[in-house]
Amino acid sequence: MLSFLAPAADVGAHGPVNPWVALAYLVAGVFFILALRGLSSPATSRAGNRNGMIGMAIAVITTLVTHDIANIVEIGIAIFLGGIIGVTIARKIAMTAMPELVAGFHSLVGLAAVLVGWAAYLNPGAFGLLVGDGISAVSKVEMGLGIAIGAITFSGSVIAFAKLSGKMSGSPILLPGRHVINLGVLGAIIVLTALFALAGPADTLPLIVAVTVLAFLIGFLLIIPIGGADMPVVVSMLNSYSGWAAAAMGFTLGNTAMIITGALVGSSGAILSYIMCRAMNRSFISVIAGGFGADDSGGGSGEPREQRPYKQGSAADAAYMLEQAEKVIIIPGYGMAVAQAQHALREMADLLEERGVEVKYAIHPVAGRMPGHMNVLLAEASVEYDKVFELEDINSEFAQADVAFIIGANDVVNPAAKTDKSSPIYGMPVFDVDKAKQVFFIKRSMGGVGYAGVDNDVFYMDQTMMLLSDAKKMVEEIVKALD
Ligand code: NDP
Repeated sequence: MLSFLAPAADVGAHGPVNPWVALAYLVAGVFFILALRGLSSPATSRAGNRNGMIGMAIAVITTLVTHDIANIVEIGIAIFLGGIIGVTIARKIAMTAMPELVAGFHSLVGLAAVLVGWAAYLNPGAFGLLVGDGISAVSKVEMGLGIAIGAITFSGSVIAFAKLSGKMSGSPILLPGRHVINLGVLGAIIVLTALFALAGPADTLPLIVAVTVLAFLIGFLLIIPIGGADMPVVVSMLNSYSGWAAAAMGFTLGNTAMIITGALVGSSGAILSYIMCRAMNRSFISVIAGGFGADDSGGGSGEPREQRPYKQGSAADAAYMLEQAEKVIIIPGYGMAVAQAQHALREMADLLEERGVEVKYAIHPVAGRMPGHMNVLLAEASVEYDKVFELEDINSEFAQADVAFIIGANDVVNPAAKTDKSSPIYGMPVFDVDKAKQVFFIKRSMGGVGYAGVDNDVFYMDQTMMLLSDAKKMVEEIVKALD
């Protein structure tokens, strides 16, 4: 039935090439590009996701029907089991655990690349890579790179997972002489990959073992010094690495769909990392070089904090002042995600708007624990997109705002980023909430700090009223008081 998909006579380096297969992969690639385009705005993101799924279905089906796959039943069972695990995790996962889940999934992509690379090395005939009695130098370069990038992605993602899930301290761990060690290990990986490519069949094993071990090591060394507010860049950077690992494996397997997909993931992840670095006023190179420029003192994390006077208010106080306001800017952060307060927040905003109050939402690029975290939550609560503003578009409006309503945000409003050179968040642009006439700050206790682990002067300002409670509970009480 699918005889037109049978291999054509022209045989490429990895086996027969069928023009229909190439066309199907091209169509899949177009769907992936449309997916990325769609994902660039919340309004089109559903369509983007749909296009991604269509592209992936075309690529997987084409691969299954056209490749000489060892055992389709085994593959079917693997897809079924993997699918069940994926659906179960997706249904169970809390929105707050999303970043570590993403890091965990990146580690699997990395590990898959390492395993495919090793499988191709151990059985090159099955991959169409055998030339004479060995593997060609070009294929060995692709293999070495794929294994190295995959191993870096794997161990880096495991550390990122541990840091984001709180299984390991989020603070930077700075080894003495780490830059020299990192450069040395990276240099060794490049030299060993070159030697692997040039070596005769009998001499390659120790070289590829060494590349694999050193790449696992460098992934670990690159991520442990990154911490605090720089973690968002790590997540997007590992996303990028997982793409490049897949692209390298696409070359090994001779699969154009994998090369296209890997390159798209790799480059979009790199662009996202660059955007996140710019948003945080960090140098891209310093972050990817592994905590370059990080303060060896370890920043403000864990330091005992002095007791300072602050004002505490109730939901009724907040409701009264919000009603009197003309302009309210809401700054959501990680705590809103923890409390799942977005729906109650939307209700509060609706009630204020009914009373003629102008309400806007201000989103910091690193608010929450993953890129776009707050946008997703607000979209889930059906907040209109034209009320949601990026940092640079709204920061000048705080001077005209009657109320800055901070709900579960902390680092992204911390003025230490502007004034305290020793702070781990120094240099990151933050919201100028101090310019608003009144600040409401929702968090559960005075003891809790933000992700970077530093105290926040906004708690103690004259115009600040601390609303100490779970965010959802507090907003629901404000809604009741407004009704
Ligand atoms: P922060 O992590 O700085 O602060 C969260 C605040 O929420 C804390 O003040 C906490 O205080 C409060 N909170 C927690 N749970 C609740 C709750 N149930 N109800 C009310 N308040 C709650 O959040 P931001 O969004 O301001 O900043 C994000 C930080 O995370 C940045 O440092 C960023 O670099 C980092 N990061 C971002 C990633 C991303 O991709 N966006 C990825 C990894 C890290 P309390 O405990 O007292 O309630």
